[in-house]
Amino acid sequence: MTDRKNELAAHLARVQERIAAACAAAGRDPREVTLIVVTKTYPASDVRILSGLGVRDVAENRDQDAAPKAAECSDLPLNWHFVGQLQTNKVRSVVGYASVVQSVDRARLVTALSKEAVRAGREVGCLLQVAFDAGADGRGERGGVAPEGIEELADLVAAAPGLRLDGLMTVAPLTGEYAGRPAAAFGRLMDLSTDLRRAHPAANMVSAGMSADLEQAVAAGATHVRVGTAVLGVRPGLG
Ligand SMILES: *Cc1c(COP(=O)(O)O)cnc(C)c1O
Repeated sequence: MTDRKNELAAHLARVQERIAAACAAAGRDPREVTLIVVTKTYPASDVRILSGLGVRDVAENRDQDAAPKAAECSDLPLNWHFVGQLQTNKVRSVVGYASVVQSVDRARLVTALSKEAVRAGREVGCLLQVAFDAGADGRGERGGVAPEGIEELADLVAAAPGLRLDGLMTVAPLTGEYAGRPAAAFGRLMDLSTDLRRAHPAANMVSAGMSADLEQAVAAGATHVRVGTAVLGVRPGLG
């Protein structure tokens, strides 16, 4: 194995152990939790190594970086998740490679995603990104819809051709009443998921938890954790 492959294999094993331990503590089956490796800022060569190590789900947050990476890795059996704030002018590109968009947070984006999914003849899975730090405009600092906006947006996605409503996603907020309280934020997300599933029983994905707080997310009931740093290393600069 190359040095990088050894390093990624060791990190991956450690993260899988953390997930398994969190599942054991919560009395959950580890197969209920899917690890999504967030490969943003890292090269396609790392994605290829991860695929060789058995990773099936990867996530990116910027289309400019993700599109060429996905193209370079199009021979690999990977599901690409888009997890960043998404402008409507990038939707056509994102629909070209992403099987799931986890950052759906406004009606205009739903319309654009639906149009491009139909045009491409693809079905795109959608998670509604929930913002627990939403301001008066109902939007979060880093995107996301306020809890009060979930129902309306969910109905829109469910009725949109080419889209499939898969569930909810959140990022533990840095501001507002849930700042520094990821367990409380993830617990609230689970309650919102329970509400959502009354009207949309198949929308059972709950994407929460990152390198620093995956244990809290698993304890709360997350079905998907999104881990970058703990697998790939600390990102240079912002990302
Ligand atoms: C970067 C990112 C992650 C991963 O964060 P780490 O702390 O590196 O594990 C998860 N979710 C989203 C939306 C991200 O942008």
